Amino acid sequence: MPPEKPHWAHLYDEVVTSGLCTGCSACVVACPYDVLGYDQETTYKPFHVEATGGLDGCTHGERGCTLCTRACPRFREWEPEIEQHLFGRPRTDDEVAGISEQVVLARATDPELHEAGQDGGLVSALLVWGLEHDVIDAALVSALEGDGTSWKAVPAVVRDRAGVLATAGSRYTYSANPLAYAAAIDGGAERIALVGMGCQASAPAVMAARKAGKVARRFVLSIGLMCSKTFDDAIFPELFEARYDLRREDIAKMNIKGVFQVWMRNGEYHEIPLKEAHGWTREGCMSCPDFAAEHADISTGGIGAFNDWTLTVIRTARGQELFASMIADGAVEVRAGEDDPGAIALMQRLSKVSRKRWPATAVPTPGRLPAPQPA
Ligand SMILES: Cc1cc2nc3c(=O)[nH]c(=O)nc-3n(C[C@H](O)[C@H](O)[C@H](O)COP(=O)(O)OP(=O)(O)OC[C@H]3O[C@@H](n4cnc5c(N)ncnc54)[C@H](O)[C@@H]3O)c2cc1C
Ligand code: SF4
Ligand code: SF4
Repeated sequence: MPPEKPHWAHLYDEVVTSGLCTGCSACVVACPYDVLGYDQETTYKPFHVEATGGLDGCTHGERGCTLCTRACPRFREWEPEIEQHLFGRPRTDDEVAGISEQVVLARATDPELHEAGQDGGLVSALLVWGLEHDVIDAALVSALEGDGTSWKAVPAVVRDRAGVLATAGSRYTYSANPLAYAAAIDGGAERIALVGMGCQASAPAVMAARKAGKVARRFVLSIGLMCSKTFDDAIFPELFEARYDLRREDIAKMNIKGVFQVWMRNGEYHEIPLKEAHGWTREGCMSCPDFAAEHADISTGGIGAFNDWTLTVIRTARGQELFASMIADGAVEVRAGEDDPGAIALMQRLSKVSRKRWPATAVPTPGRLPAPQPA
């Protein structure tokens, strides 16, 4: 029998409709025939355009194209394949937040980047340094649409310091950052950094592990954002406005530190209990096992005792090299992770919680064993 060539029909059945799809958009970006669309308004899911095979089929796939399945960070044995590729081994049971070389606290030394960043501005510093030192040509990030008053997070490409500054900070609704790939290529980029939550940060690694062609080669850096969940856009009218009278156009900044922190343009500050927000959890997050962006080159988070530092996990050789060059250049300030043991303990605890979401019926993954087979 010829070897199986998994394609869209398999992805649709095993990931998109099974509940494993995070909506990361990697399959859409990898498709060379442009037959995959993406719904950025409500479902945050990919779809196949009807004309070339229907919702669950693809004529190109039937003729041998496998690229969408090679790009999907939830397809089949995604985790061991990625870890073998990145680290030469699968994680051990006690590496619950993924394999790493170093966990530190870091922040941008540049005051403007530090100020603009959600935590220590480390992600912004990495991007600016990479752009200005010929490491990357562009980065795929998230911007707020229009003048920002809609709070609609959308994918964006940045190519310089001004672009990085304009897109710094965190939004807690979903932005499928890989979708900005086409704009980056149109602008001539060949070396691209991807910023995104774990679901997206695993995409460059899985594409490289499964040799997903040109797209895989162009992703030269993956910067991860730790993440427990994102929320539906409806949280703005239905929770913030309906229950708290906080109109999205009046919101200046948001953060999550045990509660939803909301700063208004008129200087007011409000806190909303997180448990009230759970009803607006985005469906694509419900089965996600990855809190700590476990296949990024460098993962970043905002937990811990120090608000203006970024909890930073250096994972790969590529991440280590970049970080070391930035330290040598004075672009980042670093302190030992042991300065905040509570942050590391919390990262591990939250990672364990997320691991439990991976369905027992899916392929086994650390922290979640396969469902028992009928005798
Ligand atoms: C949806 C979401 C959930 C998070 N949840 C947690 C958490 O539970 N615990 C934790 O410790 N940390 C969490 N983080 C990470 C944290 O908020 C910071 O992003 C991280 O600490 C880096 O801070 P920084 O100051 O170094 O980054 P900055 O310099 O501010 O850069 C942040 C980068 O993130 C991009 N970005 C912003 N919003 C989004 C979005 N919605 N989708 C994709 N990219 C985006 C920006 O464009 C920018 O490039 C979350 C981030 C996001 C976006
Ligand atoms: S998880 Fe990502 S790559 Fe996989 S089907 Fe969903 S959107 Fe596509
Ligand atoms: S929880 Fe975060 S990392 Fe997981 S699918 Fe949702 S947005 Fe992605």
